[in-house]
Amino acid sequence: MSTGLEGTVTPAPTSPSRWATPPRRCWARTSVPWFQCAPSDCLDNPTADPVPSGEMAENSPIEWTDATWNPVTGCTKVSPGCKHCYAERLATRLQRMANPRYTNGFSVTLHRDQLELPLRWKSPRRIFVNSMSDLFHELVPDRFIQDVFQTMGQAPWHVFQVLTKRSRRLFELCGELSWSPNIWQGVSVESKDYLWRIEDLAKTPAAVKFLSLEPLLGPIDRLPLEGIDWVIVGGESGPGHRPIETRWVRDIVLQCSAAAVPFFFKQWGGRTAKSGGRMLDNREWNGMPRVGLTQHGLATPDGTQEAY
Ligand code: SF4
Repeated sequence: MSTGLEGTVTPAPTSPSRWATPPRRCWARTSVPWFQCAPSDCLDNPTADPVPSGEMAENSPIEWTDATWNPVTGCTKVSPGCKHCYAERLATRLQRMANPRYTNGFSVTLHRDQLELPLRWKSPRRIFVNSMSDLFHELVPDRFIQDVFQTMGQAPWHVFQVLTKRSRRLFELCGELSWSPNIWQGVSVESKDYLWRIEDLAKTPAAVKFLSLEPLLGPIDRLPLEGIDWVIVGGESGPGHRPIETRWVRDIVLQCSAAAVPFFFKQWGGRTAKSGGRMLDNREWNGMPRVGLTQHGLATPDGTQEAY
């Protein structure tokens, strides 16, 4: 299946040989104090491993993953959860810092030279796929998505976490994708208006299906959890962040408990992602899927298999 829009995709820079000369003072730290820097984003950091090659690997500060892999960057907004998109802010910042991967800013850009990057990472990782985009964006060609899935299948020692708001395209394309058991497919749902994304996810053959309820913008009292292996909840962070309410989170904990679905509470949110911490009722909630970790060589993190 083709979107018919492939020709409109902005090409990536062909040979990102070197990053720009590091600025004398960090633009982000001096101008945008609410940003959380990842080590490999930082042009001031001499230990930032991927700088010379322009590769897009990074250790991720996101609590539920180990690394990010971005064969696509850039996106467009589709629903209220996108209003304060972190990826858009970061892409704009990296463009200003003359990062060659972001010369197009937040426009959808394919990075074909990154397609096989995880094959070169020999130690097992949980890899968040396209933290800076949405793999199922309408401007990403079917063939490119298939290539991403092929790479994931060739690296069974990793777990790949794919998250989308474009669940309809995910559903329409899922029969043409190679689903290996190390692919965890998720959908983002910010309010009960978007529960239909879960229905789309449920129809896919993904071995592990998960929900990211972040930023949670309202109560969701009837989560359809049948066939769902994991639920993540988080509040919004950054300028203009919209507050999350404790009762919304507690209600989702109860629903997950009743359905025996592991629950992960990422953050309360606030001015920064760390502002409010991540304690709920005097504890962290670090539930992870009960399948798919050890069989793929990843050590099960402490406390992740606990029952409720
Ligand atoms: S779908 Fe995700 S990456 Fe795209 S604009 Fe919305 S929040 Fe940002």
